[in-house]
Amino acid sequence: MHASLAPLRRGLVTGTALLLLPLGCASTQAGRGGEEALTTRKQPGLRAQPRWGLVIHGGAGVISRENLSPEREAQVRAALEASLRAGHAVLVGGGTSLDAVTAAIRVLEDSPYFNAGKGAVFNHDGINELDAAIMDGTTRAAGAVAGLRHVKNPIELARKVMEKSPHVMMVGEGAEAFAKTQGVELVDPKYFYTEERWQGLQRALEKERQQPSSLRPGHDPVTGDHKFGTVGAVALDASGHLAAGTSTGGMTNKRFGRVGDSPIIGAGTYADPGCAVSATGHGEFFIRYTVARDICARVEYQGKSLAEAADVVINDVLVKAGGEGGVIAMDAQGNVAMPFNSSGMYRGYIGDDGQPHVAIFAEPDTAVSK
Ligand code: ASP
Repeated sequence: MHASLAPLRRGLVTGTALLLLPLGCASTQAGRGGEEALTTRKQPGLRAQPRWGLVIHGGAGVISRENLSPEREAQVRAALEASLRAGHAVLVGGGTSLDAVTAAIRVLEDSPYFNAGKGAVFNHDGINELDAAIMDGTTRAAGAVAGLRHVKNPIELARKVMEKSPHVMMVGEGAEAFAKTQGVELVDPKYFYTEERWQGLQRALEKERQQPSSLRPGHDPVTGDHKFGTVGAVALDASGHLAAGTSTGGMTNKRFGRVGDSPIIGAGTYADPGCAVSATGHGEFFIRYTVARDICARVEYQGKSLAEAADVVINDVLVKAGGEGGVIAMDAQGNVAMPFNSSGMYRGYIGDDGQPHVAIFAEPDTAVSK
């Protein structure tokens, strides 16, 4: 690995912070990346043009090498890289962070390997109910949708709510009626079916019948798997504007009408001019602890670095509360944090050099695919 990639590698491995290093420049001037990063953080006004980049997640949880086959790992990594490339294509062309977030999330919604769009988990009644949100950090405009059953790409509808309605959040039939007026693609509910998710629900139902009190939502009692699988993206564009988005099927065996943190602004999704966050994990905890906003509030009011703020909320506040999961976050200087308190989180980053970097587990070695 090139020396200039070391901070990025550490950040991806540990899930802690890193700066969007000028990788293209650093590759010809080895070792300068770290220095430049520090200078920038102290003197943000000196940078003529902010660094830009994109960070994504594909869910956190118990992701171990035992329950992730090499074939599956390769497919997941390919999908994450495709998502990063889609977002990069927007940013490299001078596009907005909102467009990059939307493009990156669409790719993951269309993949059956993540719990969003195609591949969403089933609720207790065997139905897929999807939630999503998007937020523009600069204007604080936001759009959120919940309880969708027919919208192929919920992130598209969240964006329409933000841009084409006077509202922030729309749910269920009303949201889908609005989707029709906006030309958002609707599909038969069968589109969301995957055998794997269906079997996951059957195991959860069986376990619930046997031991009602032992059931944790999202937990697969057979494999011991606790994979959340929600997808999210946070981007900083060349104009220095941040955006965040999240899309999910929620949690396996959730009750009809249950809404998690992903579409709740300030809980699973949040962006302001200086900080943007997308979360994944046990949504009830993320709602009660207003995780995304708490991270950005610590940056804003306490003057904490993004890394410190994200780390304390995920690895202290949430751990003490018993809430499992993680976040991806960026600030307007291009710092990135991706802490998680579970054993793994599908995650990735791409900067202006166009090289996708993907990681899954907490341990090193295979954590970075490049
Ligand atoms: N946070 C999501 C929810 O509770 C689940 C996930 O992250 O996969 O709905």
